[in-house]
Amino acid sequence: MADLEQMALFSVQPVEGKGNGVVATAKITKGTRILAESPFITLPRVNGDSVEVLNEDVLKQLRNASRDQQRAFFSLTNIHGKTLPIPLGIIQTNALAYGPKGEGGLFITGSQFNHACVPTACIKWNCELDQMTVHTLCDIEPGEEITITYVNLGSNNRRRDQLDSGFQFICSCKICTLPQEMRKNLDDDIEEIKGIDKLLKANSMPLKDGLWFAYRQRWLIQANGIERAHVPATYDFAAKLAVEHKDYARAKIFCQRQLDIAMTEGGPDHPDTQDQLDMKAYLESILQQHSGPIVPYHFSRIELEDWLWMQHMPEDSEGESSEDDEWDLAGGLSDDSSSNPDREVWSDDEDCNMGFGIRSLD
Ligand SMILES: [Zn+2]
Repeated sequence: MADLEQMALFSVQPVEGKGNGVVATAKITKGTRILAESPFITLPRVNGDSVEVLNEDVLKQLRNASRDQQRAFFSLTNIHGKTLPIPLGIIQTNALAYGPKGEGGLFITGSQFNHACVPTACIKWNCELDQMTVHTLCDIEPGEEITITYVNLGSNNRRRDQLDSGFQFICSCKICTLPQEMRKNLDDDIEEIKGIDKLLKANSMPLKDGLWFAYRQRWLIQANGIERAHVPATYDFAAKLAVEHKDYARAKIFCQRQLDIAMTEGGPDHPDTQDQLDMKAYLESILQQHSGPIVPYHFSRIELEDWLWMQHMPEDSEGESSEDDEWDLAGGLSDDSSSNPDREVWSDDEDCNMGFGIRSLD
């Protein structure tokens, strides 16, 4: 259960058209940890046990809970009442997946957050704390609903199918209610974002080419205003690519940007944040001894961006020129796998499913 300080920032209350939801009761700034919660019920063997074994396991844990906790548990939404025993139906509807072995857990307060494809908060498992945390991804005004996302970024149809089959509701968030033509354009851009993700992960390429794709991917994300959705970690990729090419100056800037995101989403004690801090320290130590490209401090903001992503790079400028002129920057995205809207880039493992219809906290 949330502690009193956290509860002061939000309350669980009816939200029009959605049953209950989490609503801010005070102004909350971006990056605030509004909840840290231990699982009320754990499901260590969620992949494979029979319904009977799982139900008995859940009942055993429920018997050890207080009356208030039991009441809170049974007040949660259950969309599987006709097909599963009630406790398991509640688990199936509300539980979240976490941990490397696919453990699952039911979080009483964490379960109350409604979905938006572009949410205002981020839910993450923190293995250092053994708790689930929720951080705000933007400033939130009192009275505003706080949402998280249950699905990865995908086309409008795919999101609708996932939310309908997993949770039996139709999303009415800002990108799901765009006019049809704009929805179609966004679907095309999402397909391209995912196509670039696949391309970047599958190919080793010259730094300039890799950064061209990364730049295009980040541009598409920002131009569509979907940074808060579950989008690929462009800056992380760009930082690693720059390290691979021994361009530690660019790597440090990309690392700092990924660090800012990790800090917002998980806070300073999250392992993802610690990883970025370690990488930043490593890059700083290398830069002190290294004689490669340095950050040109005299650049304007726009010039810095051009330099960073190696856009408009003069032929004889410092840095690595494209070694592979026949690399088809535009054509790289139009192969069968990325132009076919039915073919998904991210595997189902990474989607909302952990074999029990449960959302993943990654
Ligand atoms: Zn939506």
